[in-house]
Amino acid sequence: MLIDAHCHLDFPDFDADREAVFERAKAEGVRHFLVPGTTRKRWPEVLALGERDDVDVCLGLHPYFIDEHRDADLEALEEALDTNPGVVAVGECGIDGRFEESWDAQWHTFDAQLRIAKARQLPVVIHCVQANDKVAKRLRQLELPAGGLIHAFAGSPEQARKFLDLGFVLGLGGAVTFDRAKRLHRAVKSLPDDGYVLETDSPDMPLAGHQGERNESANVAQVCRVVAEVREQSPEQVAADSTATARRLFQLLV
Ligand SMILES: [Zn+2]
Repeated sequence: MLIDAHCHLDFPDFDADREAVFERAKAEGVRHFLVPGTTRKRWPEVLALGERDDVDVCLGLHPYFIDEHRDADLEALEEALDTNPGVVAVGECGIDGRFEESWDAQWHTFDAQLRIAKARQLPVVIHCVQANDKVAKRLRQLELPAGGLIHAFAGSPEQARKFLDLGFVLGLGGAVTFDRAKRLHRAVKSLPDDGYVLETDSPDMPLAGHQGERNESANVAQVCRVVAEVREQSPEQVAADSTATARRLFQLLV
């Protein structure tokens, strides 16, 4: 059994054929799905998907949509976590270094969510682009009791080690499937068996050979095969290890 540990199946990209997307994933052995929050406006759709037995959800404010977030949304996040005890993590939140002009606002919103996760002893799902060292430094200061996921990890073996030492696991997805990702491959090979989960970030992060196409959860099976190749392990082993790690991190009942 495989788990897609990070996929935005609530996005309108899937409105026309969402059920078929789940079915195609299942045909590839992907049987459980973690759907993170992005904006307050979208939380109801995320929570509605969480009603399914094969979906667990997170709630958070994604840095990509920083212009949409208000301080009131942070209060709303606390309320939403209070009223939805089945939510398994805070996220997706984080820092996107590509948008330097909103750096201050991103840190403000990210930091508040880290503190919410810490107070509730929830894991946190982190989007971290061109900011690995700064985010690791902040996580070290905060000492989050339940750790979390560095989703779509694309860093070096040294950066991977730092996050693992902080009690985090790394999300491996489409980036791993590119031959040119030599540094990332070295990182993937260096990970302990319990240090990673598999994900797609659907509809984003297409796999090698599928640039420009909508990504979907069935592709976790291909990510699994590539990770197995890089780690010189069997796909069965990678499936078992990544599923066990997702279960442990998010305390899944599947
Ligand atoms: Zn995402």
